Amino acid sequence: TTIDSDIAGPAPRHRTTQVKVGDVAVGGGAPIVVQSMTNTDTADIDGTIAQVAALARAGSEMVRITVDREEAAAAVPHIRDGLAKRGITTPLIGDFHYIGHKLLAAYPACAEALAKYRINPGNVGFKDKRDTQFADIIEIANKNNKPVRIGANWGSLDQELLTKLMDENAASANPRDVRAVTREAMVQSALLSAARAEELGMPKNRIILSAKVSAVQDLIAVYQDLASRSDYAIHLGLTEAGMGTKGIVASSAALGILLQQGIGDTIRISLTPEPGGDRTREVQVGQELLQTMGFRTFVPLVAACPGCGRTTSTTFQELARSIQDFIRDEMPVWKTKYPGVEELNVAVMGCIVNGPGESKHANIGISLPGTGEAPAAPVFVDGKKFRTLRGPTISADFKALVIDYIEQ
Ligand code: SF4
Repeated sequence: TTIDSDIAGPAPRHRTTQVKVGDVAVGGGAPIVVQSMTNTDTADIDGTIAQVAALARAGSEMVRITVDREEAAAAVPHIRDGLAKRGITTPLIGDFHYIGHKLLAAYPACAEALAKYRINPGNVGFKDKRDTQFADIIEIANKNNKPVRIGANWGSLDQELLTKLMDENAASANPRDVRAVTREAMVQSALLSAARAEELGMPKNRIILSAKVSAVQDLIAVYQDLASRSDYAIHLGLTEAGMGTKGIVASSAALGILLQQGIGDTIRISLTPEPGGDRTREVQVGQELLQTMGFRTFVPLVAACPGCGRTTSTTFQELARSIQDFIRDEMPVWKTKYPGVEELNVAVMGCIVNGPGESKHANIGISLPGTGEAPAAPVFVDGKKFRTLRGPTISADFKALVIDYIEQ
C-alpha cells in the first residue's frame, strides 16, 4: 500500500437540499452550522432570553427551545421580541413532543415566532390514528412557510414501526442483528415521515432530518445509511452524549467521522452540563470540532505545547489559559471590527526546544523560558523574532502585542 501524502482532507460533502432556517442556510453546500439548545423552562421568559442571548453570543447560529405546554407556547413570542430588543436575531427552533399540533394551532403567534419546528416521529405518528397530529403540524408549517426537522431518536423510536420490522426480521430466513433492525427502524422512521410531509405539500427545501443515537458506532451507521438513501439536509448529533470529557470525546469521535465522510449540514454537541456549569460549553465544543477539522474558523487558534519537566513554574499554563480566554472574550467585538480575525494563529510555548519553531509558524507566538534558560520570553511575529519580554508583566505585554498585531 502506498500513502499519497498529497491527499489530505475530508470526502466531498454529501449533496443535500438547502433549507433556510430564518436567515441561516443549512445544507446544499452552506457552511456547517453550529446549534444548541436551552435548558431553561421556556415559560420563564427572562431566563430563556438570557440563556439564548448567552448561547448566541458564544456563537450558536440557531437555538432550540422546548415548547412542552401552553405556558411555554405563550412565552415564545415574548422571548423572540425580548431578543430582538437586544439585537439578537438568532433563529429559534421549537422542540415539540406529543402535543405540538395542539400548541401550534392554539398559539399562532408562537408558530409565527419560531423559525423551525422539530417533530419527533416517534411520538407524533403519521400512518394511524395519530396521523392528524403529524399532518396538523405540517399544515401549520406550510401555512407559515416554516421548515421542520424530523428528528427520530433511539430513545423514543416509533414503536409500531419497530415492532413491524422486528416481526419481519424474526420471520426472515436470515434474521439480522437486533441492533441493525433498530437502526433500520430509525432510518425508515425519518425517511417515511419526510415522504409523508412531502405528500402533504411540504417542499424538500423545508425538511431537515436527524436520527440520534447514544452509541457512537450505531450513530455512524445510521447517518451513513440516511445519507446514502436521501438528499435531505442533515442535522448531526449524538444524543445523551454524557457529562464532561466523556460527552466531548464521544460526540467528537462520532461527528468527526461523519463530517470527514462529508455527512452533516448542522451539528449540536449535546453535553450534560455539570451542576452550575456553563451551557455555552456545547457551542464552544461544536465550534472547536469544526475548526480543528478545517471546516470553519470561528476563533483564533492558540497552539500551546503540553508542558513538561522543563516548565517548572505555573507561568506557562497560566499564560496559555489567559491568552485563550482573552481571545474568546474579545471575539464578539473583534469580529465586528477586524474582518478575518478568526484566521489568526497564536502560539504559546513552554521553552526553547519547540518554542521558537512553533512560534515562527504562528502569526504571533511567544516562547517562555524553561528551567535553566535565561529569564526572557522571545516573541515572534510573522515568523521573525520581534521582541523579548521579561518580568512580571509578560502576560499583559503579550496581550497588548496581540492587539497591536490584529489592529495592524
Ligand atoms: Fe516541554 Fe519545551 Fe516541549 Fe513545551 S516546548 S513540551 S516545555 S520541551
